[in-house]
Amino acid sequence: MEKREQKFAEDLLQYLNDSPTAFHAVENAAVMLKEHGFQELKETDSWSLQEDGRYFVIKNSSALIAFTVGRGGLAKEGFRIIGAHTDSPCLKIKPGAGSITPDGYVRLNVEIYGGAILNTWFDRPLALAGRLVVKEDGALREKLIRIDKPVFMIPNLCIHFHRDVNEKGAYNKQTDMMPLFCMKEEGVEKEDYLFELLQEEIGTGKTDIVDYELFLYEYQKGIFTGKNQEFISASRIDDLSMVYAGLSALTEAKTGKGCQVFAAFDNEEVGSTTAQGANSGLFLHILNRICKNLGLTDEGYFQAIANSTSISADLAHAVHPNYSDKHDTETRPVLGKGAVIKYSASQRYATTAHSAAYFMEACKRAGVPFQKFVNRNDIPGGSTIGPALSGLTTIPTVDIGAPVLAMHSIREFGAVADNVYTKQVFLAYYEGDRSM
Ligand code: ZN
Repeated sequence: MEKREQKFAEDLLQYLNDSPTAFHAVENAAVMLKEHGFQELKETDSWSLQEDGRYFVIKNSSALIAFTVGRGGLAKEGFRIIGAHTDSPCLKIKPGAGSITPDGYVRLNVEIYGGAILNTWFDRPLALAGRLVVKEDGALREKLIRIDKPVFMIPNLCIHFHRDVNEKGAYNKQTDMMPLFCMKEEGVEKEDYLFELLQEEIGTGKTDIVDYELFLYEYQKGIFTGKNQEFISASRIDDLSMVYAGLSALTEAKTGKGCQVFAAFDNEEVGSTTAQGANSGLFLHILNRICKNLGLTDEGYFQAIANSTSISADLAHAVHPNYSDKHDTETRPVLGKGAVIKYSASQRYATTAHSAAYFMEACKRAGVPFQKFVNRNDIPGGSTIGPALSGLTTIPTVDIGAPVLAMHSIREFGAVADNVYTKQVFLAYYEGDRSM
């Protein structure tokens, strides 16, 4: 691997490690964008966009839309869009926080966010991050919090009490998933254990905290692995690796004639239908607002939309060596061989021949390989932001992603090369002419 590519892979790993929640992913993205001359716009302010300008908007602290303004001709050139998502499956702390068993164990009460592989959350140290809404001097404020300490653990039941666990390893989402926190102390109320921890970290006590959105994450950091360190083993590769590739491409891309857009939505793992999700009015509002602010008429706006293209970047399923029959016989992506174009006759992916073609053209311009994926007919598979995004905007969309193993495990597994390729094709896509 070249030095430049090595640096990109190291920065990606750092981004994954530094972003335990969607809030932190957005906060770190904003820092990166500002370093590259992007200016933050507030939805509540009046905008005044300039040619060659670079901007971004944050929604709910957990979604972000960044864009560059081209040199005229937006109606004819349209938007060149890449979308990804900031959220990952995890455990979310319920209101009330704690629970004390009759035996004196203090546990957290959690719910499951998204389609997590539950057994991967056992027997490993867990830390805590998210956001608080606090009352300071009579005003409500938001505070991001990260307690990067190994404080929680969900210990497995010993094999002697369920000897068939290796044959039937099912877990109950309510009763089996409560992380152990500490042992009961005299005179301490059940919710106070968590608030004490928060107070230690940011000096905000129980009475100041109005509400919270707190998530557990794996305390151990992501690493490179494999004989030649060619793999990445880390949390939240889905989908922060695509967020990072999109951000990197946008910050590097030369400004074009139209607008280059990178959107990182929240809540993909729970269906995207939220104000900060892909299946909402958010994205179209922003595109409309950009057009109007640059002086386009309604007619110009509709033209710009019709002249736009989009890439929905989420991850793809590589063939697993131990379960290779889970894939279709002919479309079998593997690690290290490039981004995967995802097809689905039932439109769980938005890819069409047209949208696949402009993606393949961009791969050729970038000089990087690509692969194709279709589910087996007897496995329905998942979906992503592509169908919602193309349905709402009517913009042609291709669903693609770097291939991975262990998708939705607490620790996912991908290849360094695929992340490098994906970033390169994104750059070629942003900088290319309208191809169709
Ligand atoms: Zn995803």
